[in-house]
Amino acid sequence: MSECSKLQSCPFFVKFSNLEEFRLKGFKNMYCAGPLMEQCARIKHKEVEGIKPPDELAPTGILFTVQA
Ligand code: SF4
Repeated sequence: MSECSKLQSCPFFVKFSNLEEFRLKGFKNMYCAGPLMEQCARIKHKEVEGIKPPDELAPTGILFTVQA
């Protein structure tokens, strides 16, 4: 299975690199290199809105808040 071309620099993962490893892996396994890639909310946002999504938008479509 191929992986998303944005994976190495995806702003969501840059911003939330401090998330627990299992959560990051879960997102990547399901979306960035998995069966739900086409449904990634970040990709869809760009397609629908024509602009890049906020960094806080997770591939699931949930807006994350910055953790202290
Ligand atoms: S979150 Fe979406 S845009 Fe970012 S790397 Fe994963 S599939 Fe690509």
